[in-house]
Amino acid sequence: MTTTTVEQATRYEAVIGLEVHVELSTRTKMFCGCATDFGGDPNTRTCEVCLGHPGSLPVVNAGAVESAIRLGLALDCEISPSSQFHRKNYFYPDMPKNYQISQYDVPICLRGHLDVPLDEGARRIGITRVHMEEDTGKSLHVGTSGRIRGAEYSLVDYNRAGIPLLECVSEPDLRTSEEARAYLAELRAIVLALAISDAKLEEGSMRCDANVSLRPVGHTVFGTRVEIKNMNSLRSLGRAIDHEIARQTDLLRSGHEVMQETRHWDEDRQVTSTLRTKEAVDDYRYFPDPDLLPVRPDPGWIDRLRDGLPELPAALRARLAERYGLAPPQVATLNRNGLVGLFEAAVKAGGGPVDVANWLTNEVTGWATAQGIDPSTVPLPAAHLAQLIGLVGDGTLSSKLARQVLDEVLESGGASMPKQIVEARGLAQMSDAGELERIVDQVITEQDEAAQRVRDGNAKAIGALVGAVMRATQGKANPQMVNQLLRERLTVS
Ligand code: ADP
Ligand code: MG
Ligand code: ZN
Repeated sequence: MTTTTVEQATRYEAVIGLEVHVELSTRTKMFCGCATDFGGDPNTRTCEVCLGHPGSLPVVNAGAVESAIRLGLALDCEISPSSQFHRKNYFYPDMPKNYQISQYDVPICLRGHLDVPLDEGARRIGITRVHMEEDTGKSLHVGTSGRIRGAEYSLVDYNRAGIPLLECVSEPDLRTSEEARAYLAELRAIVLALAISDAKLEEGSMRCDANVSLRPVGHTVFGTRVEIKNMNSLRSLGRAIDHEIARQTDLLRSGHEVMQETRHWDEDRQVTSTLRTKEAVDDYRYFPDPDLLPVRPDPGWIDRLRDGLPELPAALRARLAERYGLAPPQVATLNRNGLVGLFEAAVKAGGGPVDVANWLTNEVTGWATAQGIDPSTVPLPAAHLAQLIGLVGDGTLSSKLARQVLDEVLESGGASMPKQIVEARGLAQMSDAGELERIVDQVITEQDEAAQRVRDGNAKAIGALVGAVMRATQGKANPQMVNQLLRERLTVS
């Protein structure tokens, strides 16, 4: 009985579209000259314009327009010859004008695409639009929950109000949480390559809302979508989407409907909960901002911006893969962790490309993660890494000892060279044949039984003897040499 029900249960497919906000790292705000840098005392980086005083007039920040066009070009969008700013009217205490200046029916960039790298190859995801808008201020809800419900009182800081944002909206082309994560990672890599934002998901300079719906496999009509907010890492984006897919599957299988609503991802409890329900389309009474002229970028300027685009992540991956023989996922890891520069410098300093890439993506990234720092900021000069790899290559260090040396280089803040550490600590691998022969003979005598098994043709039994020699030398013996010596003595070919 149970098996039949499971077999008959409808199989669903997820449909996902992402809305990504990118806070631009322009020096000043979107419509005034206030500074955008982080960390000023509350409400000190404000003026009449960003506080919405009557009679104040906004002026468009040309740098922000330039960033929007460059992102649009990187995503193969059409750049609108004339786009318009609209007022999006709603009340919220962190928004002093009671409207947000945004773009509506004619955004600056339209109809592009992003090729998302996946294990099985790239998948093209449509970009509906990229538009410009301004950020809101920040409310601080004081009380145990930190959220507005149950707060004793709230404070508001307008330093962020008016900081330029780009909103990049995807078509509902994504199908799984892995694809959504890969999309966001690639978009972030592009934004970083363009150097238009520091794009930190954890700190909110890049923010992602996920729209998720389900439909029976094979259907073409979309189901009702739910929008999820508040994911502040790639990992929580993946988890929130998976949680939402499971929640909607349960609803549909038990004969309920999905309600169109906005849900909040709760990182501590790893669940989504209702934030607000959208019975109908929000009515923001958009209308063109009469204080702002349409944005009409000069075609020559657009051409210059196109010519000046940097090498984008996909091209970089292809180039490094071809030039150094690296696997594309490894190049992607280097790129995502901001390690491409160090990689190329260490190769120039003499490190083999595959070795350099392995050290960077495994040990170095692992060390940074354990320290809670960004891998791109590890204190590791390229020459040190190349030298370390050389010491492994010429047999001075086993890979185990080399990891120990790397830790010490990093802990010294990059001050000590690997060779100095090896000398100072007597870490060099024991490759003195005479000394090793003596220890090998001793081990053969002590481990008589294992030695006899090897002589009798059980080649695997040699492992126990190698292990004993390694122990006797505190791991400093050169394992290849030990193996060789044991084989000679036990006459294994
Ligand atoms: P809104 O501001 O109302 O959320 P937007 O146009 O800014 O509207 O964003 C809508 C997002 O939802 C887009 O990323 C779009 O791809 C996605 N989307 C639209 N319909 C669906 C659906 N049925 N299921 C999943 N995602 C959807
Ligand atoms: Mg939305
Ligand atoms: Zn201002």
